[in-house]
Amino acid sequence: MRSFDLIVAGGGIAGCSAALAAARRGKSVALLEKSVWPGGLATAGLIYVYLPICDGCGRQVSFGLARELLTAAHAYGPGEIPEHWQAPGPKPLNDRLYTIFSPASMVLALDELLEEAGVSVWFDTLLAGVRRTGGQVTAVEVENKSGRLTLEADYFIDATGDADLVRRAGGECFSEENQLSSWAIEYDATAQRSPRNLADHLKQVVINRTVPEGRFRGISGESVSRMIRESRRELRNRYRKLYAEGRTRDDCFPLLVPTLANFRRTFSIRGRLLLTPELSGEQFDDSVGLFGNWITPGPVHELPYRVLLPAELENVWAAGRCISVTGETCELTRVIPVAAMSGEIAGTAAALAADAGSSAPGVAGGRLQEELRRVEFRFHREEL
Ligand SMILES: Cc1cc2nc3c(=O)[nH]c(=O)nc-3n(C[C@H](O)[C@H](O)[C@H](O)COP(=O)(O)OP(=O)(O)OC[C@H]3O[C@@H](n4cnc5c(N)ncnc54)[C@H](O)[C@@H]3O)c2cc1C
Repeated sequence: MRSFDLIVAGGGIAGCSAALAAARRGKSVALLEKSVWPGGLATAGLIYVYLPICDGCGRQVSFGLARELLTAAHAYGPGEIPEHWQAPGPKPLNDRLYTIFSPASMVLALDELLEEAGVSVWFDTLLAGVRRTGGQVTAVEVENKSGRLTLEADYFIDATGDADLVRRAGGECFSEENQLSSWAIEYDATAQRSPRNLADHLKQVVINRTVPEGRFRGISGESVSRMIRESRRELRNRYRKLYAEGRTRDDCFPLLVPTLANFRRTFSIRGRLLLTPELSGEQFDDSVGLFGNWITPGPVHELPYRVLLPAELENVWAAGRCISVTGETCELTRVIPVAAMSGEIAGTAAALAADAGSSAPGVAGGRLQEELRRVEFRFHREEL
């Protein structure tokens, strides 16, 4: 049976960040990913806008891997750090620190970073079961071409986006509503390069549709398949309409459709704290990072460590879009930069816990904040 210091389930942005943070601190890390792409929704979901890591008023608020991955995203393709952010100095209001990137470029960049850090990456490997004794997860069962395997570790991070590991361990989770989002990268002979388009003739197609409550929670096999079928039907309708209006199949067509289900939210863990919109303006002693508001310039929020900690488990963290956050606040935390940040926090905490032989809650406070400060994290608004 293979054994690691840390197993990270889910190789999206949060899982890659978690694995990088722990491996760079000398831990043996296995990263389990059911698809063959690192990056999750940000790559296989064709989400190619890396939302801002600043507050919209000229101040960077998220640091560490949130910034590193923003730069790495365009190492092998289009996108750039906006001009005013390439050097110190004042930034114009509303000039935000974000980038577009080609999903395939991000795949290559993440492969490279994971390889350099020495992460053991298991692609095409599904987390299929969890073994738990009391408050400890002891091993996971995975399915891949080799069959069903059991992998052991001292610590685990659930970065599946769907809280698969915590749910399978019997941890409490909750779910929220989704829109139907049809998504594609389109070849359009008339499209010009722009801040939202990847290149001349290459653009993102997004059709969002509100659906009756409960229709697309993505929490059953049936509802995932239904959402995928309906989202692609919307795309077929788009092209039928365009062709009926005179566009041709040669000058406008879908080039890529997502290979992951584009749910914004499915299951989230019920953590030691549930971050609600009412709490999101508070100051927290256990803040482990700051995030801005990508929709409205101005507000900056603190991320309390407890939202990463499943209530019942001692050696497990959640990271990414399945952390314990609800409502409108989750609109702000479920995005790429905050997933990178929560992944880095979880991976760093796991490395510290492994060094100290302590539990996940046991590394809260000074030691974790001190370690994150080494990679420039800020914890409270007044530190900006
Ligand atoms: C329609 C839509 C539009 C969006 N637009 C933007 C945007 O413009 N900009 C932005 O910054 N963010 C956007 N987001 C949000 C963002 O892309 C994701 O929420 C963010 O990348 C979350 O990353 P994550 O790592 O937490 O989860 P995910 O990206 O979901 O990654 C989870 C990974 O875990 C893997 N996995 C799941 N279950 C298992 C299992 N059982 N075993 C093994 N592997 C498993 C998956 O294959 C996946 O790779 C959008 C999201 C959606 C759905």
